[in-house]
Amino acid sequence: MIDVKPNPRMLQYDGTYGEYGGSYVPPVLEPQLKKLAEFFDDQAAKEEFNKEFIYILKNYVGRPSALYYAKNLSDYVGSKIYLKREDLNHTGSHKINNCIGQILLAKKMGATEIIAETGAGQHGVATATAAAIFGIPCKIFMGEIDVERQALNVRRMRLLGAEVIATNLGSRTLKDAVDAALGYYIENPNSFYLLGSHVGPHPYPKMVGYFQSVIGQEARQQILEFEGRLPDSIFAAVGGGSNAIGLFSSFLEDESVEIHGAEGGGDGTYPNTAATLSFGKTTIFQGTKSYCLVDEEGNPIPSKSIAAGLDYPGISPQHAQMKDSQRAKYYPVTDAEAVEAFKLLSKLEGITTAIESAHAVALAIKVLKDKNQLAIVNVSGRGDKDVEREM
Ligand SMILES: *Cc1c(COP(=O)(O)O)cnc(C)c1O
Repeated sequence: MIDVKPNPRMLQYDGTYGEYGGSYVPPVLEPQLKKLAEFFDDQAAKEEFNKEFIYILKNYVGRPSALYYAKNLSDYVGSKIYLKREDLNHTGSHKINNCIGQILLAKKMGATEIIAETGAGQHGVATATAAAIFGIPCKIFMGEIDVERQALNVRRMRLLGAEVIATNLGSRTLKDAVDAALGYYIENPNSFYLLGSHVGPHPYPKMVGYFQSVIGQEARQQILEFEGRLPDSIFAAVGGGSNAIGLFSSFLEDESVEIHGAEGGGDGTYPNTAATLSFGKTTIFQGTKSYCLVDEEGNPIPSKSIAAGLDYPGISPQHAQMKDSQRAKYYPVTDAEAVEAFKLLSKLEGITTAIESAHAVALAIKVLKDKNQLAIVNVSGRGDKDVEREM
């Protein structure tokens, strides 16, 4: 029996990760975030809160997610590879784990409304789903261009009862949707801002890391059950960093386990890339201090990746710390390499992963080639959304 449970170790953080993290927000937001941080600490320490979270993960999301021995892929690569199947979750990715956790918190705080921003719409759909089951009204902010590009997800969100608000600010994409949502949050302190990745000001990375840590907690038990030992290496795609921290967090103290993160490399060269840790500089961006893709003057620049979920110029402060301390290694994986892995895994295993997850698969294939290692690769989501794109 696999225990579905977040990792209490993730509650030790105070919002800083070495020199990274913190909370760099306009003073008007400080009291709201402080209240949220205290409320989260209080609830996460309570058995009742965790019980409710776990109940929904098991009975609605469908956890634990399978850890699947990918024999055909293993034979092809020359290492023993297990896939952690977050693609099998309700709504098709790991994002729902975090949305359920934060909605539960919002409900207990008495929030009257959920707000979130989304680029490709995946976080928007997961948020609208979680808001639907708790019956809390939900507003999703999106750039006008993204509303057009992501018509199917916009329809899904509306079907789920969310109000999709198109913003015509700036470049009319994700960054501007964040600004619009933040503006709304400042004016409506009874709303709850549901952030979708391991980024932003404290307490967001702490909360998101805690809710996503169920991935690693399960994977660790599963690999010990199947193999009787820890893996030699683990892999995940890194956008903002939430599915990766979810898996990595259960292995941080096991020095024998090598940790590898796959960034959206774009064409593999700066500035046509989303590989923040590979090409970025330490900057304060959207409420936190971490690496960020910047121009020569140090201003954040738009990222570029085939994978919408990896297409973000910032990165989790904890991954920044893990890069510097060399506890984990991060590599740019190009669009072309990801597409190749996307096709390969479909043919070899009958699993069409999200193009985001295909970055992790591509990296694993490269690193593990003829190494005869035991490895876990996080399949963060399913790929229906990516099939139609010309590849
Ligand atoms: C959003 C998304 C990602 C990237 O987000 P992280 O916070 O880095 O996990 C990766 N894979 C899928 C399937 C996604 O939807």
